[in-house]
Amino acid sequence: MSSQQPLVLVVNSGSSSVKFRLLPADGGPSLLAGIAESLGTSGPARLVLRKGEERHVEELPGNCHMNALRAIFSHVERNGWLHRVAAVGHRVVHGGERFSQSVRVTPEVIADIEAVSALAPLHNAANLMGIRSCSELFPTIPQVAVFDTAFHQSMPAEAYTYAIPSRFYREHGIRRYGFHGTSFRYVSERAAELLALDPKDHGVVVAHLGNGASVCAVRNGESCDTSMGLTPLEGLVMGTRAGDLDVGAAAHMARVAGLDLAGVESLLNRESGLLGLSELSSDCRTIQLAADGGDDRAALALDVFVHRLARYIGALATSLHRFDALVFTGGIGENSARVREMTLKHLGVFGFALDAQANERMAGGAFGRIDSGMGPQAWVIPTDEEGLIARDAVRLAGLDVPQRLAA
Ligand code: ADP
Repeated sequence: MSSQQPLVLVVNSGSSSVKFRLLPADGGPSLLAGIAESLGTSGPARLVLRKGEERHVEELPGNCHMNALRAIFSHVERNGWLHRVAAVGHRVVHGGERFSQSVRVTPEVIADIEAVSALAPLHNAANLMGIRSCSELFPTIPQVAVFDTAFHQSMPAEAYTYAIPSRFYREHGIRRYGFHGTSFRYVSERAAELLALDPKDHGVVVAHLGNGASVCAVRNGESCDTSMGLTPLEGLVMGTRAGDLDVGAAAHMARVAGLDLAGVESLLNRESGLLGLSELSSDCRTIQLAADGGDDRAALALDVFVHRLARYIGALATSLHRFDALVFTGGIGENSARVREMTLKHLGVFGFALDAQANERMAGGAFGRIDSGMGPQAWVIPTDEEGLIARDAVRLAGLDVPQRLAA
């Protein structure tokens, strides 16, 4: 890599944190990465940086997003990389129906992101703070917005429409949008490449299992169904989110616990899922260890997680015209041999047969096939959302560098 290779800054600006990575424009490992935490809170904010094996922590002078990005900017400058930054790619959570692909940021794009922000007020407002701060800090460098929802805009109406009075869709845009689109796009592209699938005739189901989790049916490279909905609460059991729940049960819980709507929303988003079931942790590793130690609630939490996951994979497979492969990704999908084994066992009806040794080997960024069956294949493929954001930023900024997909 030449020392003058252009660089891309990838920014994920959340409500209380800013995560970033500085990458070579042609792909490859990041030069600098980190997270600014506790932004917008009463406590002190700090910046944690990783540069190769080095780790550096500093307190931020103010706890707003602009200060966090200013500190990141000054580290980029101090390392002598500033003149090489050629594009900034921003993760934006909700693009509504307006954005079906990544775009160069312009004043109109900012106004459109604002216009769809009612669908995800906290997330989009935080994403916009990142965009605005970077536009100030890097006024001459192209900014690109990459949307979590964009990949799912190919879903047909029958998959995205809720069976509620139609006026709610017409007047308020209430429909299913889906999330994790950047991960699904990256992983399904990698799957098509690794499995040598016909680009015009294939079907895969991708399970992105992290703290947030969702499943996507990808038909010929396009999302045709997914488990998340208007918000990232629908679908699978997650770290702290309940996923699907009878709305009647939510109303009943509100009555018995004396909660208002915001209280129910918070309970289902922050106190449910693996955490609520185990009464121990939202972290899959901790739950697995507790289950091994004989903790029945932890064991049940894993069983419910896997049952819901398998059920969704089966359901989403019916949105495909053929089922070539199931792909696991995300922190749990990439690392938990146990969750994968339990899931494939549940899915025996599809003809999955686990290759136990291959399954055990898949952790810490490894990729490969984990089944030995005659039916659909099962794979582990690590996701790389930041890599794909960088790739889109390079393309839309018009940088002339050859791209390679990271393994
Ligand atoms: P996020 O959605 O925040 O990006 P990640 O994709 O990093 O989350 O996934 C975090 C989840 O991955 C946690 O539940 C964590 O316990 C789980 N995980 C990471 N490593 C392992 C492992 N070796 N075994 C089981 N679960 C793991």
